[in-house]
Amino acid sequence: MNRNIMLEHLANDTPWDIVIIGGGATGVGCAIDAASRGYKTLLVEQYDFAKGTSSKSTKLVHGGVRYLEQGNISLVMEALRERGHLLKNAPHLTNIQSFVIPVYSLWEQLFYTIGLKIYDILSGTLSLGKTKFLSKRQTTEHIPSINTEKLYGGVLYYDGQFDDSLLCIEMAETAVQQGATVLNYCKATSFVKDNEGKISGLIIEDVISKETQHVKTGVVINATGVFTNAVMQLDDAHKHEFVSPSQGIHLVIDNKFFNGTSAMMIPKTSDGRVLFAVPWHQKVILGTTDTPVDTIKIEPTPLKEEVDFILSHFNKYCNGSITRDDVLSVYVGLRPLVNNKKSKAKTAQLSRAHSLTVSDSGLITITGGKWTTYRRMAQDAVNNAVFVAKLEREKCVTANLPIGNLTKRLEILNQLNQTTPEVSALIHPKYLFTNAEIIYAVRYQMAITLEDILARRIRLLFLDARVAIEVAPMVATIMAKELNKEEDWIKDQVSSFNQLAKQYIF
Ligand SMILES: Cc1cc2nc3c(=O)[nH]c(=O)nc-3n(C[C@H](O)[C@H](O)[C@H](O)COP(=O)(O)OP(=O)(O)OC[C@H]3O[C@@H](n4cnc5c(N)ncnc54)[C@H](O)[C@@H]3O)c2cc1C
Repeated sequence: MNRNIMLEHLANDTPWDIVIIGGGATGVGCAIDAASRGYKTLLVEQYDFAKGTSSKSTKLVHGGVRYLEQGNISLVMEALRERGHLLKNAPHLTNIQSFVIPVYSLWEQLFYTIGLKIYDILSGTLSLGKTKFLSKRQTTEHIPSINTEKLYGGVLYYDGQFDDSLLCIEMAETAVQQGATVLNYCKATSFVKDNEGKISGLIIEDVISKETQHVKTGVVINATGVFTNAVMQLDDAHKHEFVSPSQGIHLVIDNKFFNGTSAMMIPKTSDGRVLFAVPWHQKVILGTTDTPVDTIKIEPTPLKEEVDFILSHFNKYCNGSITRDDVLSVYVGLRPLVNNKKSKAKTAQLSRAHSLTVSDSGLITITGGKWTTYRRMAQDAVNNAVFVAKLEREKCVTANLPIGNLTKRLEILNQLNQTTPEVSALIHPKYLFTNAEIIYAVRYQMAITLEDILARRIRLLFLDARVAIEVAPMVATIMAKELNKEEDWIKDQVSSFNQLAKQYIF
C-alpha cells in the first residue's frame, strides 16, 4: 500500500462505483467485499486505519457466549460462522484460545456446561474444541492465580482470539490487492447531490496536505462507528441521533499476575457485568466495562470507577493485589449502540447484531455488530449499495478469500533484517519487535505518523505505554529517514505521541 499512488487514484476524475467512509473493521470489510466483486471502490479514513474502536476491542473472535443466555440463537450462530471464516482466512492473525469459567457450586457448573455444550453444537463443524467440566484442581492448573476460596471447579471452553488493528491493516492491504483504493488521513467533509437530492459525490479532504477533492460516485457507505450521527447529519442536518456511544475500558497487565495459557471469563460479576482476563502477546488484557457516555472522542478517557471496578474484581477472583501502578496500559473503545426508538429513519434490522439503513438520498449506513461479524456486515452493506447504485449484481466472494500475505511479509522482513545489524536490532530489549518492522510499516503499510507504528503496526502503546514513550524518539528517527523528514518532524511526532501515550498510563 502506497499513499502517494492512492492519492493519484483519488485525483483521477472517473466516477467510483462505491465509496466507503470509515477505515475500521466495517469499512475496510466493505472495501474488500466491493473490490473483490469487481466494483471500482474507494475508502477514506479520517485518521489511520483502525484508529477508532477497531483497535480497542477485547481481541476475541467469538460467537458471544452471553447472547446465548439472552436466547439469541441466530445471532450466536451467525457470529460462530463468521468466527470460522476468520480463523480460516487469516490464520496468521488469529488463534484458538481456551477459556475457563470458574464456578462456585455444582449448579453453576451444570448451568455453564450445558450452555457451552449448546455453543459447541451451534458451532457444528466449526467447533474449536469440546467444552469440559474441570475439577477444582484442574481449574487451578489452567488458572494458577485463581482464588480458590469457595471455588468448586470450572468449565473449559474454546473461542478465537486475534490482533485487531493488525488484522484491519492487512485487510486494507487485501482490499488494495483486490483493486480498491484506500486512503488514511482523508476525511469526508460533505456530500454532493443531484437535482433529485440523491448523493452523486462527496468532498474529501486530505488532512495532511489540506487539499480537497470532489469525488463522483453512485453510492456511499457510511461505516463510521460512533461517528455515524455526524456523517448522517452531513447528509441531512435534521437527522435524529442514530447511535449512542457506550465505552468499554481494558487494563493491560504483566502475565506474572495471571500466568498460564487459559483465559478467564466471569459471566456475571457481583454487579452483573462480564469480566475477561485474556493472555495476549505475553501480557494479559482485563476488561471490559459498559458505560454510556455523552461525548464522542477518538481517544476516549477511562473513568476512575471503571479502573477501580476492573482492579477490584480481578483481585477478588484471582489471588492478586494489583494496583494502578501495575497497569502497563489502559485503552478505551466506544461501542456504537443503535438507537432505533429515537430515530425516525426507516431502519432495517438485518439481525440484532448490526443495523443497516438507507437514507432518502441513498446514503447507506451500517453500524453496530462486532469485529467478528465484519464480513457479514460488509456483505449486507455492499448488497444494498449494488441495489441503490443500480450496479450489475456480482456474487460476494469473501467467505473464502484469504486476508493478508504472510509469506510476502516474512520474505520482505527477512530481506530487511539481513541488510544491517541496525535494521535487525530489537526496538526494545524486552520486546521482540525489530527496527525492520518500522521500515516495513512505512514502506508497505501506509504508516504516516509515529503513533501509526507504535499503536497499530507494533502494539507497544497497548502492551506497555511507558516503553512506547521510551522508544518513541528512536522509532521517529528511523521513520524520518524513510520519509525524508527533518529534525522538527521528529520533535513534533514525539511530542504529540507522548501526549497521547500519557493518557494510556492515566
Ligand atoms: C470495549 C469494546 C470491546 C470489544 N470487544 C470485541 C471483541 O472482543 N470481539 C468483537 O468481535 N468485537 C468487539 N467489539 C466490537 C468491535 O470492536 C466493533 O464492532 C468494531 O470495531 C466496529 O468497527 P467499525 O469499523 O464499525 O467502527 P470504527 O472502528 O470506530 O471505525 C469507524 C471509522 O470511521 C472513521 N470516520 C469517522 N468519520 C469519518 C469521516 N467523516 N471521514 C472519514 N473517516 C471517518 C473513524 O475515524 C473511524 O476510524 C468491542 C467493542 C468495544 C467498544
